[in-house]
Amino acid sequence: KPMIQLKDVSKIYDNGTVGLKDINLTINKGEFVVVVGLSGAGKSTLLRSINRLHDVTSGDILIDGKSITSAKGKNLRELRRDIGMIFQNFNLVKRSSVLRNVLVGRVAYYPTWKTTFNLFSKEDKQKAYEALQQVDLADKVYARADELSGGQQQRVAIARVLMQNPKIILADEPTASLDPQTSVRVMNDLKMLNEKYGMTVVANLHSIELAQQFGERVIGIRAGQVVYDGKMKDTPKSV
Ligand code: ADP
Ligand code: ADP
Repeated sequence: KPMIQLKDVSKIYDNGTVGLKDINLTINKGEFVVVVGLSGAGKSTLLRSINRLHDVTSGDILIDGKSITSAKGKNLRELRRDIGMIFQNFNLVKRSSVLRNVLVGRVAYYPTWKTTFNLFSKEDKQKAYEALQQVDLADKVYARADELSGGQQQRVAIARVLMQNPKIILADEPTASLDPQTSVRVMNDLKMLNEKYGMTVVANLHSIELAQQFGERVIGIRAGQVVYDGKMKDTPKSV
């Protein structure tokens, strides 16, 4: 069942730079896809297009069958709620507690005034604690986010995305600032969300080794175009 579909998608930036060129791509529900390519190939542009952090220049993108390209207002908000993000720099609220950072994953389900006053339900607080257990950080619940190591902060971000309970997770270079051992741990936690909760994962990776280890399907992009799409065992040494 298609979860993400790109139909003839191009993204040309205002200054004329080609971000993506005529991309046709289908990612099915439950897939774990790794996107590889050199710096500047268009990996981030691809993810930013899928959750519509920017508008594409032409083409259509469907999320679980619904066009995000033309969605507006409430429909767009609902589609975005189905898409969780993991960033290279973790994007945590540094001075807040780990628990509160995980609860942030629920904000799209609450009216704004409630989250402003930190009025999360008891049930959600319990769920946040359980999410932290899933990534083995139950002992850090009340720590300040910026007291944790990089790997731990990224796992808080993974607990946050678990709280959001999206259909899709887009991870933009989730391990770029981490050492190899910590990177594997973070990738394993993303894999856990995929296997245990059925979330469709698309992760941009710089490292071909990690891509081969974790990408059931590896998509190689160069100059905004798909130049490789296949199983991990066939992945070429360089893309
Ligand atoms: P990657 O994530 O693979 O490193 P990007 O998607 O960030 O690649 O960039 C693809 C191309 O688009 C690059 O040539 C980059 O310089 C360009 N680009 C990215 N963002 C912008 C922007 N906001 N304005 C203009 N050009 C951009
Ligand atoms: P992990 O691999 O579990 O993410 P690390 O091996 O990077 O953690 O760090 C080990 C311990 O050192 C952690 O318990 C963490 O609290 C602490 N630590 C690492 N980096 C920092 C930092 N920048 N500030 C505070 N504590 C840190």
